[in-house]
Amino acid sequence: MRLRIAAGNWKMNTSIQEGIELAKSINQFATSINIENKRIILGVPFTHIVPIVQTVDYRKISIAAQNCAKWEKGAYTGEISAEMIRSTGAHYVIIGHSERRQYFNENNNDLKIKVELCLKNNLRPIFCIGEKLKEREQEKHFNVVSTQLKESLFHLDEENFSHIVLAYEPVWAIGTGKNATPEQAQEMHAFIRKLISENYSISIAQNTTILYGGSCNAQNAKDLFSQPDIDGGLIGGASLKANDFIEIIKVL
Ligand code: PGA
Repeated sequence: MRLRIAAGNWKMNTSIQEGIELAKSINQFATSINIENKRIILGVPFTHIVPIVQTVDYRKISIAAQNCAKWEKGAYTGEISAEMIRSTGAHYVIIGHSERRQYFNENNNDLKIKVELCLKNNLRPIFCIGEKLKEREQEKHFNVVSTQLKESLFHLDEENFSHIVLAYEPVWAIGTGKNATPEQAQEMHAFIRKLISENYSISIAQNTTILYGGSCNAQNAKDLFSQPDIDGGLIGGASLKANDFIEIIKVL
């Protein structure tokens, strides 16, 4: 059975105090439910990781960083390494989010290095892939996603690949209020799972969690998550409101 996951991506939002309050509300709900085969993850700013790790019940909620450096350690002023993240008590790192690819020019090779550093430090990457609007209009979306996977992940051996969580996030759906339809998302998720089975095995493909992200909210989550190859969501805007995120967890 593969894990179903509701992961929040808070991006650069909330003060530490606001973040702790938000985490407390979600934690209160999480402690009241049975989450066998399910995982709740909060992707919080670096500054918030330690206080939020200390706030939530680790048996119910895991914490993710939103990025890590592409170097192990040393003279890289302002950077945060995978090893540092691991020492906070976080268990996941969002890698390759489209905002990092777009604003920080992270390419598939940079992301390959980051994935390796995460795995070396016992952190699970939540690896984001997805096409831009123009690429979908030109019907290049399958090619784009396939290249992202090949150039950043498919060199991993089976053991390491089995620690990856994937998030399909069409760039045109992120923060736009225009989610992919359940059919569009399912089509891509099935394609991704097929690529994994061709590169690894059917059983690895069946066990890989593939999240959908991009304007996923309390209203559309149920339809998206009921598709056979969609195992939950990476949620931006709607993860900043406790009630909305809780509604999404409920339909996981
Ligand atoms: P959104 O963001 O839910 O606000 O569209 C998703 C993401 O960027 O991960």
